[in-house]
Amino acid sequence: MRSLSKSEVRHGIFFSMNYGIIKKIDIADGLGVRVSLFVSGCRNHCKGCHNQITWDFNFGKPFTKETEDEIIEALKPAHIAGLTVLGGEPFEEENQEVLAPFLERVKKEFPNKNIWCYTGYLYDKDLLPQDGRKHTPYTNRMLACINILIDGPYIEKERDLTLNFRGSRNQRIIDLEHNCLLKL
Ligand code: SF4
Repeated sequence: MRSLSKSEVRHGIFFSMNYGIIKKIDIADGLGVRVSLFVSGCRNHCKGCHNQITWDFNFGKPFTKETEDEIIEALKPAHIAGLTVLGGEPFEEENQEVLAPFLERVKKEFPNKNIWCYTGYLYDKDLLPQDGRKHTPYTNRMLACINILIDGPYIEKERDLTLNFRGSRNQRIIDLEHNCLLKL
């Protein structure tokens, strides 16, 4: 898939999204027992990435209304703490357009559950409106739904197996609700 210009993104070109897996019981990608959605497509291409198969935007299956409903159903049990979105790269432009309304639906249906999201981009450099290279009309809508954002690329020389929820030391766990970094 070719790269999209900011102008194409801003003018509302229609995107679809593929996903690789939905894990309905996941204890590795956030606090508590979670449902995890692994989206397809990533342009970060971090050296040493363990998930290279998900770089391809065509990997996996189309994310449809039925997929949404399946995840909503999986989130219903009381023991499920929330949803984690990872990939691949949730903040690629194509994926943002699909994820923004979906995360809003999750937030509306489960106001007491939390949403974690992983990105290889940097929150303050790439996602915010001022010159953020990945900021689109959908970015703020996604960020408004996300409680915890784990940001930054995977850097092989910063790899640390003792870290919780992260692969390399440069990655940050950002509590967007309280605007602070977490040390977990
Ligand atoms: S952002 Fe994640 S999926 Fe993308 S290359 Fe880096 S580690 Fe791999």
